[in-house]
Amino acid sequence: PLVLGIESSCDETGVGIVRGTTLLTNTVSSSMDEHVRFGGVIPEIASRAHLDAFVPTLQESLHEAGVTLEDIDAIAVTSGPGLAGALMVGVCAAKALAVATGKPLYAINHLVAHVGVGLLDGKPDAGAAAGLGAGQLPENLGALLVSGGHTEILRIRSITDDVELLGSTIDDAAGEAYDKVARILGLGYPGGPAIDKLARQGNPKSIRFPRGLTQPKYMGTAEDKGPHRYDWSFSGLKTAVARCVEQFEARGEEVPVADIAAAFQEAVVDVISSKAVLACKENGITDVLLGGGVAANSRLRELTRQRCTSAGITLHVPSLDLCTDNGAMVAALGAQLIMAGIGPSGLTFAPDSSMPVTSVSLPA
Ligand code: ATP
Ligand code: MG
Ligand code: FE
Repeated sequence: PLVLGIESSCDETGVGIVRGTTLLTNTVSSSMDEHVRFGGVIPEIASRAHLDAFVPTLQESLHEAGVTLEDIDAIAVTSGPGLAGALMVGVCAAKALAVATGKPLYAINHLVAHVGVGLLDGKPDAGAAAGLGAGQLPENLGALLVSGGHTEILRIRSITDDVELLGSTIDDAAGEAYDKVARILGLGYPGGPAIDKLARQGNPKSIRFPRGLTQPKYMGTAEDKGPHRYDWSFSGLKTAVARCVEQFEARGEEVPVADIAAAFQEAVVDVISSKAVLACKENGITDVLLGGGVAANSRLRELTRQRCTSAGITLHVPSLDLCTDNGAMVAALGAQLIMAGIGPSGLTFAPDSSMPVTSVSLPA
C-alpha cells in the first residue's frame, strides 16, 4: 500500500511516504531554531510552527515522491505520545486530509513507529538500511529508544499488536539530561551534539559520576527482579554535575568543562547500554534496534555495539534521519498495520499525550 505518514509530536513536522516497505520520501521541517534561545522546546511555539510548516512539508513530500493525494491508499498520523498541542495540529491535519480524500486514517503510536522504521528496505539512496530485512522482523526483537522525551527498552513480539515495555526512565529522558547538563556547562541548546563533540577532548575517567538505579536494592536478581532492574534515572546525575561545577567554582579553579562532559557522557552511555543489554539477555532478545535522537551519539553507538557483540546480540541502527522524529516512520508502521489486515482508526479519536507503548494503533 501507498501510505502517507504525518508526525508532529514534538518540534519536527514530518511527512513521509512509503509503498509497503519502500521509502519514497521523508520530508522534515524542524522548529528547533525557534527554541534555541529558551534552551528547550516551548510547546506553544512548536504547535504554531507545525501550523505554518504542515502544508509546505506535505506539498514537498508529494512532489518528491511524484504522487498525488488521490494515489495514496491510506493516511497514518502520530496520535501520541507527545506534546498535546503539537499532536493536535498533526491529527487535525490528518483528519482533514482523510475527510477531503475519503482515505482511511490510522492513529499511530510514535514510539512503536520508531521501531517500525527499521522495516523499511535498506536502499542506500533512501537512507534506510537498519539491516532488519524488508518487512521481516527478527523473532526476538527488542528496541532501545533514546531521545529528548524517552528512554525505553521494549520487547516487540509483533510490531502491529504485541509491544511490551521492559524498562524506562523514571525521571528525565537521556536527551533531556544532555540538554540540562549542557546548560549547566554553558554549551547551549541542543546539548547532545555539543557534549558529544566536547567529550572527545576530555578524560571520561577524570570524574566518576553516579550510575542511577544500579544499587542492589533496585536491581534485585535475575530471577526475583528488583523494582527498577531495567529502569534508568538521570536526575541525580544532572545534580551531581551541577555540584561538581559548583565545587570547582568555590575553590576558584577553572571548571574542566571537557572532562566533565566526557565523564557525564560516560555515565549516561554506560548505564543505558548495560541495562539495555541486561534486559535483552534476560528476556531472550537476540536483535535490538536503536532509535531516537540520542542514537546520533557516537559513544552510545560504540559502547552499545561492543556490549551487544559480547552478549551475542545483533544491534541494528537505522540511518540518522530515520532515528530522529520523522513522518516516514509513521507511514512505515501504517503500512505494516494495513498489510496485517488491521482496520483504520476512524475520525473520532483524540490525540493522547501519554499514549502507552502497548497501544500500537487506535481501534475504530
Ligand atoms: P521524542 O522523544 O518525542 O522523540 P525529541 O524531539 O526531543 O523527542 P529527538 O528529536 O529524537 O527527540 O532527539 C533530540 C534529542 O537528542 C535532544 O535531547 C538532543 O540533545 C539529543 N541529541 C542529538 N544529538 C545527540 C548526540 N550526538 N549525543 C547525545 N544526544 C544527542
Ligand atoms: Mg525533536
Ligand atoms: Fe521521537
